[in-house]
Amino acid sequence: MQELAEPGSVLAEELRMFEDSVVRFLDHEAPPERIAAWRREGQVERSFWAKAGEQGFLGVSVSAEYGGAGGDFRHDVILIDQVARREIAGFAVALHNGVVTPYVVAHGTEEQKRRWLPSLCNGKMVAAVAMSEPDVGSDLRNIRTTARRDGEGYRINGQKTFITNGQLADFIVVAAKTSVHEGAKGISLFIVEPETADGFRRGRKLEKIGCEAQDTSELFFDDVWVPSANLLGIEEGRGLRQLMAELPRERLVIAVQAQAMLETALEETIAYVKTRKAFGQHIFDFQNTQFKLAEAKTEATISRTFLNDCIRQALAGTLADTTAAMAKYWITELQGRIIDVCLQLHGAYGYMSEYRIGRMYKDARVSRIYGGANEIMKMLIARSL
Ligand SMILES: Cc1cc2nc3c(=O)[nH]c(=O)nc-3n(C[C@H](O)[C@H](O)[C@H](O)COP(=O)(O)OP(=O)(O)OC[C@H]3O[C@@H](n4cnc5c(N)ncnc54)[C@H](O)[C@@H]3O)c2cc1C
Repeated sequence: MQELAEPGSVLAEELRMFEDSVVRFLDHEAPPERIAAWRREGQVERSFWAKAGEQGFLGVSVSAEYGGAGGDFRHDVILIDQVARREIAGFAVALHNGVVTPYVVAHGTEEQKRRWLPSLCNGKMVAAVAMSEPDVGSDLRNIRTTARRDGEGYRINGQKTFITNGQLADFIVVAAKTSVHEGAKGISLFIVEPETADGFRRGRKLEKIGCEAQDTSELFFDDVWVPSANLLGIEEGRGLRQLMAELPRERLVIAVQAQAMLETALEETIAYVKTRKAFGQHIFDFQNTQFKLAEAKTEATISRTFLNDCIRQALAGTLADTTAAMAKYWITELQGRIIDVCLQLHGAYGYMSEYRIGRMYKDARVSRIYGGANEIMKMLIARSL
């Protein structure tokens, strides 16, 4: 990741030290047996989030003034990359740091930043964002959850589903309609703090085909009252614009995870085929294996170059929606293709859950669906043509 700074610069050295500290933390706190236990239990323990907060990894790019570590997007990228390399999808730091906390940073009032950012940075609060509903995913304009004015606040009614960190979250950004007649302009974002929200209920933790350690849940809002101070920003009806403004970075974050996983799959597979034998030679010695891996390595290199360029654009504030959509769509498709090839080269072992490549195969599938399905990415790209 040092390539994200001028080689030999103080910043490159600082990023290297940061990456070392992330690696040390994950080696110590997330050994393979603990990761396996998280998969069995369907959740990462809260204490792990708290430790990550103590180490300054949560909200690492939030300014020190609000309790963050004062880093920038590069620090988030390093953290997200290392987590993705170790199959710790259950620790949804990409969502906490890369999606939800930035809503408060970018759209919160000064009072809201002072109220919530310190707890989002020190691990007291785990974040979630609740947009999807049982009947609405891609087509956000048609959400049914409502927020009606009531005294000095709003009453929220509705149901959300597929919510990452749903069981753990103490800070939930909820998309709701403040006006049912206004389409996009009728959507607002509210902060619901479950501890103080009567009528809020967590539903089932959903069983998934992959990312088993990630808590993905249903949430119910039954006449939940929140004060006006919990409306994100200063006025109603800005929710969709607030979401859209943050989407390029969110999509890039998914691409960062996908790239880390496909690179890891390649490394694992190259090592595997150099030890496994068939017909008196290593699997690696078959020309088919070499060609498949040569193709995968080439595409992974192209993809890395594009991704790093997108990260530089994001840092410069010039990353266009369409470029971010291209990165999300193309790198997650590549992730699926490369991991599939890698699994094939593992033979039956690849199909076993005890083998990493099999687990990666399951975990990778969701990248093409969430954060905006890849078809939506193509639609966005096509609109710019
Ligand atoms: C593990 C996991 C975690 C998630 N975490 C969260 C979360 O934290 N918060 C949250 O709010 N949501 C979350 N989601 C939901 C996710 O964001 C949605 O799944 C996604 O937005 C797609 O919506 P949908 O599943 O309702 O698909 P639908 O909107 O029903 O679409 C189904 C399929 O139809 C096709 N399609 C849809 N629209 C178009 C179109 N315009 N053109 C062409 N094809 C189209 C696509 O192939 C799409 O995959 C999560 C989902 C999963 C699986």
